[in-house]
Amino acid sequence: MPTLNRGFALTWLGHSTFRLVTRGARVVLLDPWVESNPACPRDQKAIDKLDVMAISHGHGDHMGDAVTLGKKHKPTVVCNYEIHLFLQRKGVPNTSPMNKGGTQEVAGLKFTMVHALHSSGIEDGGQVVYGGEPCGYVLALEDGTRIFHAGDTGIHAEMALIGELYSPEIALLPIGDLFTMSPREAAVAARMLKPKYIVPMHHGTFPALTGTPDMLREELKKLKVAAEVIALRPGEALT
Ligand SMILES: [Zn+2]
Repeated sequence: MPTLNRGFALTWLGHSTFRLVTRGARVVLLDPWVESNPACPRDQKAIDKLDVMAISHGHGDHMGDAVTLGKKHKPTVVCNYEIHLFLQRKGVPNTSPMNKGGTQEVAGLKFTMVHALHSSGIEDGGQVVYGGEPCGYVLALEDGTRIFHAGDTGIHAEMALIGELYSPEIALLPIGDLFTMSPREAAVAARMLKPKYIVPMHHGTFPALTGTPDMLREELKKLKVAAEVIALRPGEALT
């Protein structure tokens, strides 16, 4: 199990879903897609405590369990304004909306919402509901460690601003291709973000998501980007 000895545990639940338990024992779920997530190991599906849930965009593979978990555990749900309205309408009690460029503190953790290049419609009973703009988050933990969850995104030049402004140490980057960056774009993104560690996500869930951590390592080598790729298996944690 890869370890940084920093007092937190970041478990990849497959696809873009991560469970983070912080040094202060806060439990955060990033992009809640657990129950029907084919990559999520069976023994990781039970969520018994949840303080915060952060949602990058409206697609089912990123917020499929937001309503169920939001009602059950009543976490503070960090999301854009339109998803907040949607979740409120569905009876989720504790949403805390924000928009790109802003930062809010929730449970002692700072969430900064940043740009992502994607779409964000919410499927609801055969209709598509407007889900606002997709985003990523820079999350600052109690000890100042900054983790960037890129959400679903193509490459965009604002990655350089995210690097300059927030210097994330750990970047969770999609590499699967087709709906997001492939390893080639992710390597260029890493050159702009300058993280120490990259945890690849949004790959391997379905056969169509073809990018792999090894391909990312190759691309980083070509560009002489020094970031270390930490390839977690679903259910495995970076501690
Ligand atoms: Zn997705």
